Amino acid sequence: MTVRVRYAPSPTGHLHIGGVRTALFNYLFAKHHGGQFILRSEDTDLERNVPGAEQEILEGFRWLGFRWEEGPDVGGPHAPYRCTDRLPIYRDYLKKLADAGAAYPCYCTAEELDAQRAEALRLGQTPRYSGKCRDLTADERAALEAEGRTANWRFRVPEGVTLSLTDAVRGPVSFESDDIGDFVIMKSNGLPTYNFQVVIDDALMEITHVIRGEEHLSNTPRQLLIYRALGLAEPAFAHLPQVLDETRKKLSKRDPNVLPVHAYREAGYVPQAIVNFLALLGWSPGGEEEILSLEEIIARFDLERVNKSGAVFDVHKLRWM
Ligand code: GLU
Repeated sequence: MTVRVRYAPSPTGHLHIGGVRTALFNYLFAKHHGGQFILRSEDTDLERNVPGAEQEILEGFRWLGFRWEEGPDVGGPHAPYRCTDRLPIYRDYLKKLADAGAAYPCYCTAEELDAQRAEALRLGQTPRYSGKCRDLTADERAALEAEGRTANWRFRVPEGVTLSLTDAVRGPVSFESDDIGDFVIMKSNGLPTYNFQVVIDDALMEITHVIRGEEHLSNTPRQLLIYRALGLAEPAFAHLPQVLDETRKKLSKRDPNVLPVHAYREAGYVPQAIVNFLALLGWSPGGEEEILSLEEIIARFDLERVNKSGAVFDVHKLRWM
């Protein structure tokens, strides 16, 4: 089996230290196993995309020396995969789910969803989709469409299923499907949501290990449901602890430590210093050394020695060279 990993940023802002660390751990894991590193721009949330963000990521990676393996020639050689170039693929897979009864159109408006949410809270329940449009007949759907309503497609979450996985960093984790409401996988504008797009892309790109920030652990049961409904092979998962500031708070955008990567380049840091520092942030090489070459880091890298608690980023400890 060839190890294939990906870094899949949404181009919604600057490339920050936390993102670079996620990319680096993917890169090190791929290279350690003689595998492949894929870059994929997850740009389907059009409202949140920031012009120039994808370019900034590519330039940051070129500067840091991360080479990604493949990509279509859209926008020049070695352009990353870009999800908005792949919309017909997601629509095909939506059709498969709809034909199997695993997805259905939901005509609830934003106001109706807000009211359902308020009602659940009033009853002391965890807010989740009420299931109002789950079992509409063809006539009822036609009538709603005749009123001019458009549909978001929802995944039909099966009841009473325990979704378990063994995360390479966190160990065994499980979730109950009853805690998850039917969730939107394709918006009425024809664009897939992240949880749907990511499964289709990881499966079709034959990603063997999904290594990403732990904020995505709670998305994983939704993704597992989609893998299973489509009969797609599931990758292994590794969720990396957050990068914290010196006071052990999650790095926030207002934190002076959270500079975009290009700011380090402009300030004169050498890329090897950043790579070395970030590799040792939350991963232990199993010795006392503080300076390792990239080759040494690649040779020793494994997910077992990724710390389970948050990694503290202290910009003052970052050496210039
Ligand atoms: N596009 C997601 C993000 O930028 C990445 C999700 C993933 O790695 O699965 O947070």
